[in-house]
Amino acid sequence: MTGPRVGVLALQGDVREHARVLAGLGADVVTVRRPEDLAGVDGLVLPGGESSVIDKLARAYGLRQPIRDAIASGLPVLGTCAGLILLADHVTGAIAGQETFGGLDITVRRNAFGSQAESFETDLDVPAFGGPPVHAAFIRAPLVERIGPGVRPLAVLPDGRIVAVQQGALLGTAFHPEVTGETRFHQRLLDAVATSTPVPGGAEGAPIPALTKLTP
Ligand code: GLN
Repeated sequence: MTGPRVGVLALQGDVREHARVLAGLGADVVTVRRPEDLAGVDGLVLPGGESSVIDKLARAYGLRQPIRDAIASGLPVLGTCAGLILLADHVTGAIAGQETFGGLDITVRRNAFGSQAESFETDLDVPAFGGPPVHAAFIRAPLVERIGPGVRPLAVLPDGRIVAVQQGALLGTAFHPEVTGETRFHQRLLDAVATSTPVPGGAEGAPIPALTKLTP
């Protein structure tokens, strides 16, 4: 028996690390570079990198709308760091013209930790996991500034700022679980894949706004 087929968006960013974690959890991993690569994918990871670059490449490769449609159809997705930005409905600090796939009813601020502390590691308690803390690497990380009513915070910094969220089958972390040996977010994606029921009729069944609002 093969595991669920999980795609990793492979336009830019730390694709290999995600693929390694997913394969270790028994997933059948495929890299996604073209719209055809999304066919038959049961879940998707949007890796970290540079959200503005991934956005541009996704549009150039014709992947933007197919990914939006897949998200609207209920495809489980995990976005880490830049991937979280790409999942957000609203972004502050975006470059001119930057768009997201959207899906998560949140506002994220890009590069929220400033230049003096662009990168750091810390342990985070994730009550939903119930086990030992998550060792999290923040690399020029975003911050979740606002969450909509359907969004559940999964992890917060000691001062209460939100750094991981879940809304249905969509998961996002401001940090990089894939570089510290943490596997539970990827496992949660696989759990969402196991329990998800795609919306019949795809995107038509669950429209999302045609434009995502980005505030400079
Ligand atoms: N600062 C990056 C962005 O805005 C995200 C950094 C990361 O993914 N490590 O896209």
